[in-house]
Amino acid sequence: MPPYKVHIETFGCQMNEYDTELVRSLLKAEGFAFTEDRERADVVLMNTCAIREHAHNRVYGHLADLKAIKRQRNLVIGVLGCMAQNLKQDLVENESIVDVLVGPDSYRRLPGLLAEAILAQEEGLDHRGIAVDLSEYETYQDILPEQTEGINAWIAVMRGCNNFCSFCVVPYTRGRERSRDPLGIIREAEQLLANGHKQITLLGQNVNSYQYGDWDFARLITAVADLSGIERVRFTSPHPKDFPPALLDAVAGHLKICKHIHLPLQSANDRILSMMNRTYNRKEYLHLVEEIRRRHNDIALTTDIICGFPSETEEEFQDTYRTVQEVGYHAAFIFKYSERKNTIAARKHPDDVPEAVKSDRVTRLVELQKSISLKKNEAMIGRTVEVLVEGDAKKSSAQWMGKSDGNLTVVWEKDQAPVSPGGLVSIRVSRASATTLFGTPLSPC
Ligand code: SF4
Repeated sequence: MPPYKVHIETFGCQMNEYDTELVRSLLKAEGFAFTEDRERADVVLMNTCAIREHAHNRVYGHLADLKAIKRQRNLVIGVLGCMAQNLKQDLVENESIVDVLVGPDSYRRLPGLLAEAILAQEEGLDHRGIAVDLSEYETYQDILPEQTEGINAWIAVMRGCNNFCSFCVVPYTRGRERSRDPLGIIREAEQLLANGHKQITLLGQNVNSYQYGDWDFARLITAVADLSGIERVRFTSPHPKDFPPALLDAVAGHLKICKHIHLPLQSANDRILSMMNRTYNRKEYLHLVEEIRRRHNDIALTTDIICGFPSETEEEFQDTYRTVQEVGYHAAFIFKYSERKNTIAARKHPDDVPEAVKSDRVTRLVELQKSISLKKNEAMIGRTVEVLVEGDAKKSSAQWMGKSDGNLTVVWEKDQAPVSPGGLVSIRVSRASATTLFGTPLSPC
């Protein structure tokens, strides 16, 4: 087989980015090559996300573009990930141009299915390869993903989710929770550190429910943070129900575990939370926030919020608005509710909040969060933060950009001190916007 060139486009979350690296590793082992240029590819793969309408529509848009290329020459098109799992019928019916459809638990079958599709196309045969079975066991434990160079690296420590939040497709597209053997995770982390990575983010759909024998997430993250050569450990995305004291103590107390917790709120109204099946109420969530801050007042909190869940009234939205004010998050990802096919909410709760009302709630909450973020960042002026240098700033190659322990973006002029990506530097903050701190290096540490 000639080295067929594969172009991969990734949509959605960090877990999908990780899975793309996993797929690259599997394909490389079977002799496939890669190209960044879609026009030169023999195979185009889209690793898709089904969580939000936006990512979903982008995939359909890209498929429409590819149709034109496929009319002119041989091209195998594959859809991977959550959409492949959730929308298999839609994607293969109606004269679809999709040749291969592979869900998140079936990537080992991808090289074989692609080879068959390429051969069929060369012989002018109509062929479609589908592998969308969910597995109770697949964790890809033995595959080392092709992590690209840079200081940041990711390790998926568990897959799937058992929580069935009523708005979410993940339990259907990625199946039940499975945790990886901790020794395999530690070996992967050691390999990443040996390759020069400085920061490792532990990933899972519900990362803090990790459990393997007597290893829970607190023990796992501590073991990774204890590895020699590591600068920082982060984790995403956790569920508020899984923060035992040992985990809070580890985050607050271990020097290498970043002082940042992403704590998805979704709503702060108890009726809506119950309809969402989030398994906590407002009081319990706020108690957790208190417990976090009692241990370490500087832990940055970020969150996710859905506006306009079915039947949400203005008064109920106000509970969320007030809670955002009360908690004072560093940042929040705020979305309009969008009904996802096959979820509990889609089956039980009509999507009855008008789009204009959802948009208005999102706008008000975004404005509120911007003002909170600005205040929090301005409070950093005059303080010194330790920053892990990541690379050039987005807006100017004459500036460095890095992240603070609390995941704040920090920017400073390059000519102020000799540092390089992967290094730690102390920055005295002199100016702040809602998203960025600006400052001056004290000295490389
Ligand atoms: S915890 Fe809820 S929102 Fe998160 S992946 Fe599981 S079902 Fe989806």
